Amino acid sequence: MMLYRHIVVGKGGVGKSALMTQFVQRRFFGDGYWPMEEDTYRKQVEIDDEIYLLDIVETECQQEIQGLDLKGEGFLIVYSITNRESFEQVTREIEKIQKMKEKEDFPMVIVGNKTDLEKDRKISQNEAMDLAKTYNCPFFETSAKNNHNVQEAFYQLVRELNLYNSKNNN
Ligand code: GDP
Repeated sequence: MMLYRHIVVGKGGVGKSALMTQFVQRRFFGDGYWPMEEDTYRKQVEIDDEIYLLDIVETECQQEIQGLDLKGEGFLIVYSITNRESFEQVTREIEKIQKMKEKEDFPMVIVGNKTDLEKDRKISQNEAMDLAKTYNCPFFETSAKNNHNVQEAFYQLVRELNLYNSKNNN
């Protein structure tokens, strides 16, 4: 079994916890009550005939998982389609990670969340697609509330990690 870590980043309130909870538990909670414990953000999945254990966290951590070798970490960079500031933060998050890793290129997926709030949309799909193109990275619009495209975004990051590992021979 391959162990990958997915690191979910983005401005507060964009729905990072909601996406993680939806992906791992298939549940959505509105304001207030978050029953999930930090260490339960872990999910075993089968993608393209391979089994993976995904460790899903909100910040970088060095924590080991018993008996398993981490084979890579990738980033889900989340903004809300209803909030321009959160979209502008995407670029800053990417630059921060590039600096930290001292690398231009790392596995990532850009995620525009809250598509169920179409009436409050501030960021068009085209604008986000243009940004994703400049980083040559996949882009998804999701709704953690309606479970729209959530699994697709997390799975795509696994594929990006596989691609990155095969390019870098490890
Ligand atoms: P975080 O700070 O990025 O972890 O954001 P949260 O997951 O705590 O979500 C912030 C608020 O946005 C909460 O009130 C969520 O219920 C709400 N929220 C998260 N995702 C969605 C979504 O897809 N649609 C809607 N309508 N609300 C969402």
